[in-house]
Amino acid sequence: MKILLFGKNGQVGWELQRALAPLGELVALDRGGAGGLCGDLSDPRGLGATVRALRPDVIVNAAAYTAVDRAESEKSQAEAVNAVAPAVLAAEAAGQGAWMVHYSTDYVFDGGGRAPWREDDPAAPLNVYGETKWRGEEGIRAANPRHLILRTQWVYAERGRNFLANMLRLAAERERLQVVADQYGAPTAAELIADVTAHVIRAAVRRPELAGTYHLAARGETTWHGYARYAIGVARELGKPLRVSQEAIEAVDSSVFPTVAKRPRNSRLALEKIEQAFDLRMPDWRMGVERVVKEITGAASLS
Ligand code: NDP
Repeated sequence: MKILLFGKNGQVGWELQRALAPLGELVALDRGGAGGLCGDLSDPRGLGATVRALRPDVIVNAAAYTAVDRAESEKSQAEAVNAVAPAVLAAEAAGQGAWMVHYSTDYVFDGGGRAPWREDDPAAPLNVYGETKWRGEEGIRAANPRHLILRTQWVYAERGRNFLANMLRLAAERERLQVVADQYGAPTAAELIADVTAHVIRAAVRRPELAGTYHLAARGETTWHGYARYAIGVARELGKPLRVSQEAIEAVDSSVFPTVAKRPRNSRLALEKIEQAFDLRMPDWRMGVERVVKEITGAASLS
């Protein structure tokens, strides 16, 4: 199997380089491309030429415009990368009988209610990022029936900019922290996303009826506040010198931290569809957080 990966240096893309390698020949590109191949998602012609030159069996797109607040003022850039490019790649893949694998987000939903969102619940994005990601999904579904669209959320990794890394840094600098406690979801490790992606690709290539849109996240739920408290607690237990104690992490309403782009309050994602279709059981969110805190604090060898 030949796999063409875009966005190889993002949080998920980096882990995909590891997880997809055993499936066959992997060609991994970042924005700068390589060997005359275009990896820039804002260049649809270049993307088309790249897919036709390489003739992959599977395209995996981990690249995205992920600056949620900046997207409000850079709509056309977000649209090009998150909506136009995925549809172009899916159409090119369809022309060759290839699969299109892509990531989307809980931000396609409006965050109302308390129930976990199911894959076929109506989309109603609250911000430009969510809107462009939804259009990317729709473009893929229209262009290529052989697709896997994996909606994930609250992604973190040892590498890259994310909430977990920010919290550990702030906890070393400050004695008190305020963290939002009225948004609910499940922190999901890039390594889990990558491992599950490799699994679902193998299964879907053999059983094309598995094509579709799925939620891919860790199990359980928390708030940003619960997440921060847990991660900081793990880091303290490992002996990391942090100024903040767990008791000094204050739960606050999201109105305390106004953002340019609105965020959904309820980001709970129902996981039954992916678990049943692919015979998986998603691990609890704490498992991945503990691993990555150990990695970030350099304490993996202590356990
Ligand atoms: P990152 O922001 O870590 O990585 C995104 C990658 O996309 C970066 O390597 C970036 O490269 C690349 N990229 C941006 N613009 C372009 C472009 N024009 N051409 C080529 N590459 C480009 O994202 P994640 O790994 O966290 O996200 C992976 C997927 O998961 C995305 O589809 C995202 O929408 C989705 N997702 C992420 C969530 C999260 O919490 N992070 C939550 C829900 C869904 P560069 O460094 O050069 O800009």
